[in-house]
Amino acid sequence: MSAFDVMSDTELYQPVTVEDAVVLASRLAENAWLVAGGQDTYGWLKDRAKNTQAMIELSRIPELSGIKRSASGIEIGATTTLTEIANSKLIQQLIPLLGEAAQHVASPQIRNVGSIAGNIAQDTRCWYYRRGLSCYRAGGNLCYADTPEGMNREHCLFGASRCVAVSPSDTAPALVALGATIVIADSSGNHTIAAEDFFVGPDIDITRMNILKPGQIIVSIHIPADPEINVRHYFEKVADRNVWDFALVNIAVSLEMQAGKITKARFVCAGVDCKPYRLKEVERYCENKAAGSETAEGAARLAAKGAVPLNHNHFKIALMQNLVRRALRG
Ligand SMILES: Cc1cc2nc3c(=O)[nH]c(=O)nc-3n(C[C@H](O)[C@H](O)[C@H](O)COP(=O)(O)OP(=O)(O)OC[C@H]3O[C@@H](n4cnc5c(N)ncnc54)[C@H](O)[C@@H]3O)c2cc1C
Repeated sequence: MSAFDVMSDTELYQPVTVEDAVVLASRLAENAWLVAGGQDTYGWLKDRAKNTQAMIELSRIPELSGIKRSASGIEIGATTTLTEIANSKLIQQLIPLLGEAAQHVASPQIRNVGSIAGNIAQDTRCWYYRRGLSCYRAGGNLCYADTPEGMNREHCLFGASRCVAVSPSDTAPALVALGATIVIADSSGNHTIAAEDFFVGPDIDITRMNILKPGQIIVSIHIPADPEINVRHYFEKVADRNVWDFALVNIAVSLEMQAGKITKARFVCAGVDCKPYRLKEVERYCENKAAGSETAEGAARLAAKGAVPLNHNHFKIALMQNLVRRALRG
């Protein structure tokens, strides 16, 4: 058997407290890979496209798991599985958007082990990059998807900057639409960041998709929820297959309503940009209008404004427009 066929030796650390995990992550820094459910991680390792000297498994830390009511909403531990989120009565009652998004990830088997933190921190699915080719994102000097022969049906409409890969997460747009915040621990303590600011495009840093640095661990996610406010949620995902497939485009919408009118709107798509993409023009357009067919038509016209399609992904423009239309009619 050639060396190529053998996974490299990896040390495995299984801390049982966040404190120990932070000490390990800080000490091992870029030589360690955090792992929760492993559904993104093991793909990289088994394909030999990336490897690591050490793995820090987070799933044995009880305080990282669970869903609870907080004073201002809901707090979800980082290793809470997508199945737990999809099945949670609390989430169905207060923030059904997130439950819907979690329910649309992959397959039951993957949702049973895949965590919410792993879902938002997962890497892009651009197959050129995942194959280990030396593209810009991997430190090379070419984007294979953005060449005349490049297969870029799944790639971006917005935010390209040398790389045209997209953010694949189904829960990320829901968290941005819900105004969630993410708590990150490192050796200097806990830091809170808005979900929207957690994700970064290739213009900021082409080698990663979020702000996490070596030594940092997502501890929990907080989602504001006030049952007194009338909020309507909508989630829809379009993929080539109904299960076990990433979104071509998905949409997460949160609409605050008063007297039949939209007072605050958040429309966020994945599959169209390297990070969750907020449809800010649509949001502005919808404010102080009633949801319905007329608003839906006007909003749909703005949905993909500014899109720069690649050779094979023009169809995503129509998908975005139709998803916005349906969100406002639905
Ligand atoms: C066949 C297949 C289909 C899929 N389909 C979908 C889909 O339809 N929609 C979708 O959204 N996803 C999909 N996924 C992607 C992904 O595997 C899952 O979404 C899953 O939620 C990832 O979570 P995990 O805990 O298994 O991640 P892991 O592999 O454990 O971690 C993923 C990344 O997050 C980092 N990480 C994990 N936990 C933390 C933490 N607490 N702090 C800091 N960093 C952390 C890891 O270091 C790693 O880089 C699919 C995966 C596969 C294999």
